[in-house]
Amino acid sequence: MTDERALLARTSEIAAQYLESLGTRPVRPDADYATMLRAVDGPVPEQGTEPLAIVDELALAAEPGLTAMGSGRYFGFVIGGALPASLAADWLVSAWDQNAGLAQPTPALSALEAVTGRWVLELLGLPAHASFAFVTGCQMAHVTSLAAARHAVYDRIGYDLRERGLAGAPPLRVVVGEHRHVTLIRALRLLGIGRAQEHVVPADSQGRMRVELLENVPTDGTPTIVCPLAGEVNTGAVDDLEGVIAAAHERGAWVHVDGAFGLWAAASPRFAHLVHGHAAADSWATDAHKWLNVPYDCGIAICAHPAMHAAAMEYAAPYLAVGGEAERDPMGYSPEFSRRARSLPAWAAIRSLGRRGIAAMIEGSCDHAVAIADGLAALPGCEILNDVVLNQVLLRFETDGRTSEILAAVQREGEAWMGPTVWESRPAIRISVSCWRTDDDDVRRTIAAFARAATA
Ligand SMILES: *Cc1c(COP(=O)(O)O)cnc(C)c1O
Repeated sequence: MTDERALLARTSEIAAQYLESLGTRPVRPDADYATMLRAVDGPVPEQGTEPLAIVDELALAAEPGLTAMGSGRYFGFVIGGALPASLAADWLVSAWDQNAGLAQPTPALSALEAVTGRWVLELLGLPAHASFAFVTGCQMAHVTSLAAARHAVYDRIGYDLRERGLAGAPPLRVVVGEHRHVTLIRALRLLGIGRAQEHVVPADSQGRMRVELLENVPTDGTPTIVCPLAGEVNTGAVDDLEGVIAAAHERGAWVHVDGAFGLWAAASPRFAHLVHGHAAADSWATDAHKWLNVPYDCGIAICAHPAMHAAAMEYAAPYLAVGGEAERDPMGYSPEFSRRARSLPAWAAIRSLGRRGIAAMIEGSCDHAVAIADGLAALPGCEILNDVVLNQVLLRFETDGRTSEILAAVQREGEAWMGPTVWESRPAIRISVSCWRTDDDDVRRTIAAFARAATA
């Protein structure tokens, strides 16, 4: 018989040790994929192993191949860490092991999810009547919202997509910016929407959709979905949402906002102006696992037209028919049927920080981004390429060779980690500040790492 209490105590000890190592361990992994595969590969075990031995074996085996993504000096992609309360809630989600698709068997988690969704709407300044789904990430939030969008724009021309399906459906147009995120494209493909159906709007110097060029979108009655971006992954720039939404609605289009991280500017009184006008869109996709700092994975699809949302998920939505007090079935709004209660870590994150703490976290990231940009700009040959308006810093050194060398040296040293990108056809370095742990000391250590690499 497994002693579950001893097992969980040992597991929490290992987890705590890992988290305590974040301040000092190299941010990069020690071992590469090939090394890790050699170390862990083997046939299906014939015999079982004691669970207590398994957690030790797993922790020891994985250790060399982990990146300290939760470190205050990890600036790759847009990742974010895990707030302690949300990590703890995530553990309970697994311990309770509820299938949180339906309200009836697990009313506690369904009610908590309903409240969490409402809190998110309030924090992001979105319409209180909007529907939402907690999904695996922003990409699946795109899939969910765009399915609702497509259902709605066809519905407006009297084409019943549920009844008649895609084969033989009237043409559809999706307007995207030149700097659209790759996951938006993947979402379109998963929905059977091809490249020829995309109308690409050129970008300005910060990667924003040039709103005046929306004039060139034909007004031919084709059902249209317009997808502005709140938070370009290199620059953090936000499209002129008010302008894009007005132009799109004038044409009868549905507006879907990719706000994976940038939408969280709305949660800060200091930065909300960046997303001004965002609440007039028809749907939004965002992440909790990025800037809200909940553990992977949690994205959120939000829709201002709940009936369209539910219809696209092929859900009868009794909740819509009888009002807000009725049971809300999470699966009615998400593409998953069986699902974990992935909203609970978001509930705990919001519960632990409150509105003020979330604003402070967002503002702290942005302030640290400015401090990093200022510190790096003082290094010889370093050029900051973006207006540091949010949490992203984009930079390069005087030659492409030096940009790549300096980045590789910083990554190798292990004091901090950030990734490469290509900006205006040349290599560049992108720094994304999105972890709750990042503090002034992390900023100082990161600038110092660059200074060492640049003078080596
Ligand atoms: C990260 C990101 C996505 C995709 O989010 P996932 O959670 O990885 O699916 C979409 N759009 C933007 C702008 C992003 O930064």
